[in-house]
Amino acid sequence: MGKNLDMEKLASLCKRRGFIFQSSEIYGGINGFWDYGPLGAELKRNVRNAWWTNVVQRRENVVGIDASIIMHPRVWEASGHLGGFADPMVDCRACKKRYKADGFCEEQGLKLIRTDGGFQLPAGVKCQACGSEELTEPRAFNLMFKTFVGPVQDDSAVAYLRPETAQGIFADYANVLATSRQKVPFGIAQVGKAFRNEINPKNYTFRSREFEQMELEFFVKPGTDKEWHDYWVAERMAWYESIGLPAASLGQDVYAKEDLAHYASACVDITYRFPFGVQELEGIAARGCFDLSRHQEFSGKSMEYFDQETNEKYIPHVVEPSAGVDRVALALLCEAYAEEWVQKGGEPGAASQTLPAEPGKMPPDGFEARAVMRFHPSMAPVKVAVFPLVKNKPELVARAREIFTALQQRWNCAWDMTGAIGRRYRRQDEIGTPLAVTVDFDTLENGTVTLRDRDTMLQERVPVAELAVTLDTKLA
Ligand code: ATP
Repeated sequence: MGKNLDMEKLASLCKRRGFIFQSSEIYGGINGFWDYGPLGAELKRNVRNAWWTNVVQRRENVVGIDASIIMHPRVWEASGHLGGFADPMVDCRACKKRYKADGFCEEQGLKLIRTDGGFQLPAGVKCQACGSEELTEPRAFNLMFKTFVGPVQDDSAVAYLRPETAQGIFADYANVLATSRQKVPFGIAQVGKAFRNEINPKNYTFRSREFEQMELEFFVKPGTDKEWHDYWVAERMAWYESIGLPAASLGQDVYAKEDLAHYASACVDITYRFPFGVQELEGIAARGCFDLSRHQEFSGKSMEYFDQETNEKYIPHVVEPSAGVDRVALALLCEAYAEEWVQKGGEPGAASQTLPAEPGKMPPDGFEARAVMRFHPSMAPVKVAVFPLVKNKPELVARAREIFTALQQRWNCAWDMTGAIGRRYRRQDEIGTPLAVTVDFDTLENGTVTLRDRDTMLQERVPVAELAVTLDTKLA
């Protein structure tokens, strides 16, 4: 559904069905923090696993790590985050609303002006809430969350929650190189939480203060940056398509030379057409040797690599694909959501006629509305639902339970024996379960079950003995 989706509707389904809750909701919530319920946790796990399988497991030249969230504060001096990881913020003097200055200008078709010492607002910008032009000058606001390590809360105990996972990789670079027998070009990957005290968290989970990143630092020989950058942009685009985000909803935002950081030679953002606009899912930057050089300088430890084939010594350059788990999950939710009008009482096994739902209208006579999450099977939180046709026939329930338990060894399955079978299908449609198995009286007679497809709503009889193989094929 993607771009025409009403975000309120999606958020309401996500809450009702247990994908996403407001953090600490019983205390009124906390702005910029979200919890994933049972289905959301599965969805995120699928995203992470698919990324890890593609980026780490299936590549001999990429290894993974799991670094700590709180690191030595010198890390953030070396990385530039302490000095420079700041967003310019503006306040409306009239209504006191606070904005992130760059986005605020862009939304009004204007560009924030960079000056020597900071930023300046272009003429004509207005508060988006009250229309006032009485705005403060933009001032830098460091996005890192501060904390203290140990019992004494003085300056020497200050530490930070990491604002990105990447620095853990750079700090461990020499250790990984020494222990993993990798040779340049090679990569180190990590998935984990990152924290940014965003000025204005918004668009549901899109911009949060606590989120999760999937980052790869791919170390290359200086001079090969461009070819590896092109390679990773293509690889990452293909990955998004493989998890069910169609090429038509994806895009690339290629940075102009003047917008690149001084050390970077290229940067491309992979974007998705969210209902609230085209927005970044992942940034892929060629960062030269900036990060390793800075850590060499600040730590006094060599980050040089000795190339045995050419007898050269150099600090490797790095290409960094950096993606957000939460943003990918949100894109999947937006893409999957669909509403349809389905013909009532269709013959089992025959395709029911369906019409796209018209927003705000009731279905025509003989049709009923259905909400369906069309997740790619690999991303669906629940893969298979198992239903006994009736709940008051013990041998039927027992047989269904046996099948459920067997399938559960391989897939995340749902069990439901409440209500009419049609209602049970609808409940599964709404959470995006691709397949449902119904165990009925024929199952006891001839060992077949009904397998029903979420998208086509078609039903077929499959022998129980062939069920696992059939599911394997359909869920691939
Ligand atoms: P933005 O411009 O949207 O603030 P960014 O360019 O600062 O993002 P990066 O520093 O490149 O983001 O972070 C890499 C990825 O981490 C982003 O592409 C995004 O998927 C994710 N990410 C960054 N900030 C957030 C956030 N506040 N909430 C959720 N995900 C985030």
